Amino acid sequence: MANKFLRRHAVELAAEYIRAGVTDMELRMSPFGGEDESLRKIRDGFAAAQAFTDAGLRVTLGQSGNLGEVAVALGHVASYSVGIGLLEHVNHSAQISRQKQRPRPRSEDDPGGGPITGVYLNGLALTARPQIAEVLLGHSDLRTRVGCRVGRYGTSVRGPLLDTRDHYLHSRDIQMRRLLDQAAGWRPTFEIEQLRAALNLREHINANYLGPDRLPLKKPLPTRTLKSLISDIERARQAS
Ligand SMILES: [Zn+2]
Repeated sequence: MANKFLRRHAVELAAEYIRAGVTDMELRMSPFGGEDESLRKIRDGFAAAQAFTDAGLRVTLGQSGNLGEVAVALGHVASYSVGIGLLEHVNHSAQISRQKQRPRPRSEDDPGGGPITGVYLNGLALTARPQIAEVLLGHSDLRTRVGCRVGRYGTSVRGPLLDTRDHYLHSRDIQMRRLLDQAAGWRPTFEIEQLRAALNLREHINANYLGPDRLPLKKPLPTRTLKSLISDIERARQAS
């Protein structure tokens, strides 16, 4: 559903779903999610999700990554969905227009062949392109702070690269388990601490490790969505 439509019609639409006998739904707002979301857009999106929950539906926030986890922590939705290293945001019109284009020729930056599975970096709460994950997990100061000690490759600093899919699954799974183990009233606090730690580490890397003779990253790590989510949780905590 388009954001604009939802902003106006979430409440009546939710009532119609209930009248039709629907009990569970996956809500995909478009465009929504990813690493460059404003506080305003997140608030509007969460308010729409809350309208469906308030009406009595069991809502999954579709294809939503970190935003989905926060929406669960704040009680806006019961659950969220992602792909495996993929599908952490929705942009329906971009997806349709991509489907109409001819495939791009392969290059070093773009291996072609459809969407690329990202590598989840736990300490950054970031699903990164493989090249970026390679750089960060290759750096002696950073790799233990961004990596993972769980699973088949838990003893290797390159674990997330060696078994990207399994690593993605156990990371999201453990994180969600830890969140749900908190009493509902503590979940926002738990979540904001996780996000602040991830934001601090992203900012630390951006401030101290970027540059031609340092980490070969083309752009700073994104921080906008994390900041927006932290502000939104702070507001929710004050309101309660
Ligand atoms: Zn892992």
